[in-house]
Amino acid sequence: MEQNTDVLVVGACTAGLYFAGLMARQGYKTLVCDRSSEADLGRRYDIIHIGQDYFGQFGLPEPGPGDPDYVTTFHRSILRSALDKWPKNTHADVLVLRRAPLMKRLSAWARAQGADVLLNAEYESPVFDQKNRLTGAVLRRDGGEIRIKTRLTADASGIGAAVRTRLPEDYGIETFVTGPRDQFYVILRYVKLKNPKEDAVDVTRTWPYYKTWLAPQLDPSGAIMGVGANLSFDYAERCWKRFAEQAAMPEHELDYIEQSSTPYRRPPYSFVSDGFVVLGDAACITNPWSGEGVPYAWRLCSIAAEEFGRCMKNGAYPSREAAWPVNVRYIRSQGAEFARNLAMLSGAVQCSPEENDYEFQHSIIFEDDKDKGKGNLLIKLLKGLVSGGLSMQALGGLMGAAGIGGKIFAHYCAFPENPAGFGDWVRKAEALWGKAGSMAELAEQDLAQMEKG
Ligand SMILES: Cc1cc2nc3c(=O)[nH]c(=O)nc-3n(C[C@H](O)[C@H](O)[C@H](O)COP(=O)(O)OP(=O)(O)OC[C@H]3O[C@@H](n4cnc5c(N)ncnc54)[C@H](O)[C@@H]3O)c2cc1C
Repeated sequence: MEQNTDVLVVGACTAGLYFAGLMARQGYKTLVCDRSSEADLGRRYDIIHIGQDYFGQFGLPEPGPGDPDYVTTFHRSILRSALDKWPKNTHADVLVLRRAPLMKRLSAWARAQGADVLLNAEYESPVFDQKNRLTGAVLRRDGGEIRIKTRLTADASGIGAAVRTRLPEDYGIETFVTGPRDQFYVILRYVKLKNPKEDAVDVTRTWPYYKTWLAPQLDPSGAIMGVGANLSFDYAERCWKRFAEQAAMPEHELDYIEQSSTPYRRPPYSFVSDGFVVLGDAACITNPWSGEGVPYAWRLCSIAAEEFGRCMKNGAYPSREAAWPVNVRYIRSQGAEFARNLAMLSGAVQCSPEENDYEFQHSIIFEDDKDKGKGNLLIKLLKGLVSGGLSMQALGGLMGAAGIGGKIFAHYCAFPENPAGFGDWVRKAEALWGKAGSMAELAEQDLAQMEKG
């Protein structure tokens, strides 16, 4: 079987469906394939949080009370110190949604824009023309082969990056596999509260020091207890046990557990190549400080749809050069911000629980909405050193993190206007990342300590 299309999108979840809808809306024949069945689409885990404003911002229909994907809205979330003190409040309207029905909403939206959605269809391999340009794909469906001819292949297949990892090494795109060191393994415990009235969970509480949280769920007499860690589910489980031994969690009974993972590494230096773009988790677009990905991927999708919409006009094949503005526009904005935060993370978390508590008390890094931007960070840090609240090592970690984060941010803001300067830019970026700490390394050290007992 053979099909012709302008755009093939691999992966029909939050990134793929959004990009497909945006391309179809511009009049491009667009096909989205996913290996999942209709019943399984989006069922990787159940509850997802997305800021309410993002729906309007990206032109998507907003879920509301009575819709199958809508659970509730919360207006505030709270960060707490390692010693469970000094709550920091952040106010924002966040929708609590169910993933599988959300995917139905997005599928319906993408179809309404003109995209075709083909389920039970697994991407197998790329197809190239005589000039070695990507011009198609082989899909497998119902045991048979479907050959697709296309001008653009968009990889939105999630962490496995089914297309990106199958491209030749010299295709102008990084083909790395996102392995255990580069993933954040999340375990969600859905629990029933023993005292649902007194302990009602209607706001998310997070303990950044332990990467743990307590959040609302569909059942108002229940809650979700979450933990995330690099390396493995096994290590994440041990982190949870260590946290639960000393934290005052409400009394509960375990209902069931969900496990899933999210990318936790820098994205590829280029998102585009000849006839190709990578989006969403396949491109490691997650916020390094929260692990959340959906609205940040939508930002890359909207830039990519504008630029590919422009360079594919009149039947043109979208070359790497023509699509380069996708890189420039994304990397100089959200890309630079996330790169800085990722580079800063390991330095910022290298401290004792007491030092983390001191940072909370004095609004260092962790700020309440009403304290945002108040006070001079350097003075706060020096006061911490003098008073004994922060050790020289913790201060060094924070200052080093801020220094390397600032340099990486500046470098990303100077991303080259065209591919000519890319080689030099990558060499300097590699050198800078070599100086930044790594969360995986910290996790490995911590795990080694745990094994020693
Ligand atoms: C436990 C957990 C909680 C999270 N909570 C939040 C949250 O509250 N808010 C938030 O914004 N983000 C959250 N994230 C991150 C968020 O889930 C991801 O960033 C987002 O789902 C990525 O979307 P995506 O479309 O790129 O990929 P995915 O959602 O992974 O979708 C990829 C699709 O590609 C399909 N596919 C894969 N391989 C192939 C193939 N070979 N052929 C055809 N199809 C294929 C898959 O079947 C899948 O449907 C969370 C992550 C985890 C693990």
